[in-house]
Amino acid sequence: MILDKETLRGNLDHVIWNIEQARIKVSEHHIVRIVAVGKYTEIENLRTLYELGQRAFGENQVQQLAERIDALDDLPLEWHMIGRLQTNKINKLIELRPALMHSLDSLDLAEALDKRLAAKDETMECLLQINSAGEATKAGVTPDAAVDTYQEIAERFPRIHLRGVMTIGAHTEDTQIIQKSFETTHAIYETLQKDGADTCSMGMSSDYELAIACGSNMVRVGSALFQ
Ligand SMILES: *Cc1c(COP(=O)(O)O)cnc(C)c1O
Repeated sequence: MILDKETLRGNLDHVIWNIEQARIKVSEHHIVRIVAVGKYTEIENLRTLYELGQRAFGENQVQQLAERIDALDDLPLEWHMIGRLQTNKINKLIELRPALMHSLDSLDLAEALDKRLAAKDETMECLLQINSAGEATKAGVTPDAAVDTYQEIAERFPRIHLRGVMTIGAHTEDTQIIQKSFETTHAIYETLQKDGADTCSMGMSSDYELAIACGSNMVRVGSALFQ
Protein backbone atom coordinates (compact mmCIF):
# COMPACT_ATOMS: atom_id res chain seq x y z
CA MET A 1 0.00 0.00 0.00
CA ILE A 2 1.29 3.43 -0.88
CA LEU A 3 1.13 5.64 2.18
CA ASP A 4 0.69 9.38 2.13
CA LYS A 5 3.36 11.64 3.51
CA GLU A 6 1.43 12.61 6.63
CA THR A 7 0.91 8.97 7.60
CA LEU A 8 4.60 8.24 7.15
CA ARG A 9 5.52 11.40 9.03
CA GLY A 10 3.32 10.30 11.92
CA ASN A 11 4.87 6.83 11.96
CA LEU A 12 8.42 8.14 11.81
CA ASP A 13 7.77 10.76 14.51
CA HIS A 14 6.26 8.09 16.73
CA VAL A 15 9.23 5.74 16.32
CA ILE A 16 11.74 8.56 16.86
CA TRP A 17 9.86 9.68 19.97
CA ASN A 18 9.93 6.17 21.43
CA ILE A 19 13.61 5.81 20.61
CA GLU A 20 14.33 9.13 22.30
CA GLN A 21 12.56 8.03 25.48
CA ALA A 22 14.45 4.74 25.51
CA ARG A 23 17.89 6.10 24.72
CA ILE A 24 17.72 8.98 27.22
CA LYS A 25 17.14 6.42 29.95
CA VAL A 26 20.41 4.74 28.95
CA SER A 27 22.39 7.97 28.63
CA GLU A 28 22.14 11.39 27.03
CA HIS A 29 25.19 10.37 25.03
CA HIS A 30 23.73 7.12 23.79
CA ILE A 31 23.05 7.58 20.07
CA VAL A 32 20.77 5.13 18.26
CA ARG A 33 20.64 4.85 14.48
CA ILE A 34 17.52 3.76 12.62
CA VAL A 35 17.64 1.45 9.65
CA ALA A 36 14.26 1.58 7.90
CA VAL A 37 13.44 -1.92 6.69
CA GLY A 38 11.54 -1.76 3.44
CA LYS A 39 10.92 -5.42 2.66
CA TYR A 40 7.14 -5.26 3.21
CA THR A 41 6.55 -1.94 1.50
CA GLU A 42 6.59 -0.17 -1.85
CA ILE A 43 9.52 1.79 -3.21
CA GLU A 44 7.37 4.96 -3.25
CA ASN A 45 7.16 4.81 0.55
CA LEU A 46 10.94 4.64 0.85
CA ARG A 47 11.21 7.75 -1.29
CA THR A 48 8.71 9.56 0.93
CA LEU A 49 10.55 8.50 4.06
CA TYR A 50 13.73 9.90 2.54
CA GLU A 51 11.91 13.22 2.02
CA LEU A 52 11.07 13.11 5.73
CA GLY A 53 14.74 12.76 6.60
CA GLN A 54 15.48 9.04 6.73
CA ARG A 55 18.77 8.01 5.08
CA ALA A 56 19.55 4.40 6.07
CA PHE A 57 17.46 1.63 4.52
CA GLY A 58 17.70 -2.14 4.86
CA GLU A 59 16.57 -5.13 2.82
CA ASN A 60 16.76 -8.82 3.63
CA GLN A 61 17.14 -10.18 0.08
CA VAL A 62 19.92 -9.40 -2.35
CA GLN A 63 17.55 -9.29 -5.33
CA GLN A 64 15.19 -6.82 -3.67
CA LEU A 65 18.13 -4.77 -2.44
CA ALA A 66 19.44 -4.55 -6.01
CA GLU A 67 16.07 -3.45 -7.39
CA ARG A 68 15.64 -0.77 -4.78
CA ILE A 69 19.14 0.61 -5.02
CA ASP A 70 18.52 0.90 -8.73
CA ALA A 71 15.09 2.52 -8.40
CA LEU A 72 16.31 5.07 -5.83
CA ASP A 73 19.62 5.68 -7.52
CA ASP A 74 19.00 9.45 -7.58
CA LEU A 75 18.93 9.68 -3.75
CA PRO A 76 21.95 9.72 -1.41
CA LEU A 77 20.87 6.69 0.61
CA GLU A 78 22.80 4.30 2.83
CA TRP A 79 21.89 0.66 2.14
CA HIS A 80 22.05 -2.20 4.63
CA MET A 81 21.82 -5.92 3.93
CA ILE A 82 20.06 -7.53 6.89
CA GLY A 83 18.97 -10.99 5.69
CA ARG A 84 20.53 -14.36 5.15
CA LEU A 85 23.12 -14.32 2.37
CA GLN A 86 23.18 -17.35 0.09
CA THR A 87 26.59 -18.22 -1.28
CA ASN A 88 25.39 -17.84 -4.86
CA LYS A 89 24.43 -14.21 -4.16
CA ILE A 90 27.78 -13.11 -2.75
CA ASN A 91 29.10 -11.59 -5.98
CA LYS A 92 25.89 -9.69 -6.53
CA LEU A 93 25.99 -8.27 -3.02
CA ILE A 94 29.60 -7.14 -3.42
CA GLU A 95 28.63 -5.26 -6.59
CA LEU A 96 25.91 -3.43 -4.65
CA ARG A 97 28.50 -2.14 -2.14
CA PRO A 98 26.18 -1.98 0.88
CA ALA A 99 27.15 0.38 3.71
CA LEU A 100 26.79 -2.48 6.19
CA MET A 101 26.09 -6.19 5.99
CA HIS A 102 24.38 -7.23 9.26
CA SER A 103 24.03 -10.95 8.66
CA LEU A 104 27.46 -12.52 8.52
CA ASP A 105 26.36 -15.68 10.27
CA SER A 106 29.19 -18.24 10.07
CA LEU A 107 32.90 -18.73 9.61
CA ASP A 108 32.19 -20.53 6.34
CA LEU A 109 30.27 -17.58 4.95
CA ALA A 110 33.08 -15.25 6.08
CA GLU A 111 35.62 -17.39 4.23
CA ALA A 112 33.55 -17.44 1.03
CA LEU A 113 32.84 -13.70 1.24
CA ASP A 114 36.49 -12.79 1.89
CA LYS A 115 37.59 -14.83 -1.10
CA ARG A 116 35.18 -13.09 -3.47
CA LEU A 117 36.02 -9.69 -2.00
CA ALA A 118 39.72 -10.31 -2.63
CA ALA A 119 39.01 -11.38 -6.22
CA LYS A 120 37.14 -8.10 -6.81
CA ASP A 121 39.60 -6.02 -4.77
CA GLU A 122 36.78 -4.86 -2.50
CA THR A 123 36.10 -4.77 1.24
CA MET A 124 32.84 -4.94 3.19
CA GLU A 125 31.74 -3.61 6.57
CA CYS A 126 30.00 -6.45 8.41
CA LEU A 127 28.36 -7.41 11.67
CA LEU A 128 28.56 -10.91 13.10
CA GLN A 129 25.06 -12.29 13.58
CA ILE A 130 24.48 -13.97 16.94
CA ASN A 131 21.80 -16.60 17.44
CA SER A 132 21.25 -15.19 20.87
CA ALA A 133 18.38 -17.43 21.99
CA GLY A 134 19.73 -20.60 20.41
CA GLU A 135 16.76 -20.99 18.07
CA ALA A 136 16.97 -23.77 15.48
CA THR A 137 15.19 -21.62 12.88
CA LYS A 138 17.60 -18.71 13.18
CA ALA A 139 20.97 -18.11 11.62
CA GLY A 140 24.01 -16.91 13.51
CA VAL A 141 26.82 -18.11 15.69
CA THR A 142 26.11 -19.34 19.19
CA PRO A 143 26.81 -16.89 22.02
CA ASP A 144 29.50 -19.24 23.36
CA ALA A 145 31.41 -19.19 20.08
CA ALA A 146 30.81 -15.54 19.20
CA VAL A 147 33.94 -13.85 20.57
CA ASP A 148 36.32 -16.49 19.20
CA THR A 149 34.59 -16.51 15.82
CA TYR A 150 34.71 -12.72 15.64
CA GLN A 151 38.42 -12.66 16.41
CA GLU A 152 39.13 -15.45 13.97
CA ILE A 153 37.31 -13.63 11.17
CA ALA A 154 39.18 -10.43 12.01
CA GLU A 155 42.53 -12.26 11.85
CA ARG A 156 42.00 -14.50 8.84
CA PHE A 157 39.78 -12.45 6.54
CA PRO A 158 41.24 -8.97 5.98
CA ARG A 159 38.66 -7.97 3.35
CA ILE A 160 35.93 -8.21 5.96
CA HIS A 161 35.83 -5.21 8.26
CA LEU A 162 33.95 -6.29 11.35
CA ARG A 163 32.08 -3.49 13.10
CA GLY A 164 30.14 -5.34 15.76
CA VAL A 165 27.23 -7.70 16.24
CA MET A 166 23.62 -8.18 15.19
CA THR A 167 20.84 -10.26 16.64
CA ILE A 168 17.14 -10.88 16.16
CA GLY A 169 15.34 -10.97 19.51
CA ALA A 170 13.96 -14.29 20.70
CA HIS A 171 10.73 -15.24 18.96
CA THR A 172 8.37 -15.33 21.95
CA GLU A 173 5.81 -13.21 23.77
CA ASP A 174 7.86 -13.59 26.94
CA THR A 175 9.59 -10.25 27.41
CA GLN A 176 12.10 -11.68 29.86
CA ILE A 177 13.35 -14.19 27.32
CA ILE A 178 13.61 -11.48 24.65
CA GLN A 179 15.47 -9.26 27.11
CA LYS A 180 17.87 -12.06 27.93
CA SER A 181 18.68 -12.54 24.23
CA PHE A 182 19.49 -8.83 23.95
CA GLU A 183 21.57 -8.84 27.13
CA THR A 184 23.52 -11.84 25.91
CA THR A 185 24.27 -10.08 22.63
CA HIS A 186 25.19 -6.81 24.32
CA ALA A 187 27.63 -8.57 26.65
CA ILE A 188 29.38 -10.02 23.59
CA TYR A 189 29.43 -6.57 22.00
CA GLU A 190 31.03 -5.07 25.13
CA THR A 191 33.75 -7.72 25.07
CA LEU A 192 34.41 -6.95 21.41
CA GLN A 193 34.67 -3.19 21.83
CA LYS A 194 38.38 -3.64 22.57
CA ASP A 195 38.62 -5.23 19.11
CA GLY A 196 37.05 -2.13 17.56
CA ALA A 197 33.37 -3.08 17.58
CA ASP A 198 31.18 0.03 17.50
CA THR A 199 27.80 -1.28 16.36
CA CYS A 200 25.24 -3.36 18.25
CA SER A 201 22.33 -3.92 15.86
CA MET A 202 19.28 -5.21 17.67
CA GLY A 203 15.62 -4.32 17.95
CA MET A 204 12.76 -4.49 15.44
CA SER A 205 9.24 -2.98 15.46
CA SER A 206 8.00 -5.12 18.34
CA ASP A 207 11.03 -4.82 20.62
CA TYR A 208 13.25 -1.86 19.71
CA GLU A 209 12.68 -0.02 23.00
CA LEU A 210 13.69 -3.07 24.99
CA ALA A 211 16.72 -3.56 22.74
CA ILE A 212 17.83 0.03 23.35
CA ALA A 213 17.41 -0.42 27.11
CA CYS A 214 19.80 -3.37 26.72
CA GLY A 215 22.35 -1.23 24.86
CA SER A 216 21.45 -1.42 21.18
CA ASN A 217 22.76 1.48 19.10
CA MET A 218 21.18 0.45 15.80
CA VAL A 219 17.56 -0.62 15.36
CA ARG A 220 16.04 -2.18 12.23
CA VAL A 221 12.46 -1.05 12.00
CA GLY A 222 10.02 -2.06 9.28
CA SER A 223 6.32 -2.51 10.01
CA ALA A 224 6.12 0.26 12.63
CA LEU A 225 7.16 2.74 9.93
CA PHE A 226 5.19 1.37 7.00
CA GLN A 227 1.88 0.41 8.58
C1 LIG B 1 12.09 -7.75 8.58
C2 LIG B 1 13.27 -7.55 9.42
C3 LIG B 1 13.33 -6.49 10.34
C4 LIG B 1 12.18 -5.52 10.56
O1 LIG B 1 11.07 -6.18 11.06
P1 LIG B 1 9.79 -5.39 11.62
O2 LIG B 1 9.24 -6.31 12.63
O3 LIG B 1 8.90 -5.20 10.44
O4 LIG B 1 10.24 -4.11 12.20
C5 LIG B 1 14.48 -6.35 11.10
N1 LIG B 1 15.52 -7.20 10.97
C6 LIG B 1 15.51 -8.22 10.10
C7 LIG B 1 16.69 -9.11 10.00
C8 LIG B 1 14.39 -8.44 9.29
O5 LIG B 1 14.38 -9.47 8.45
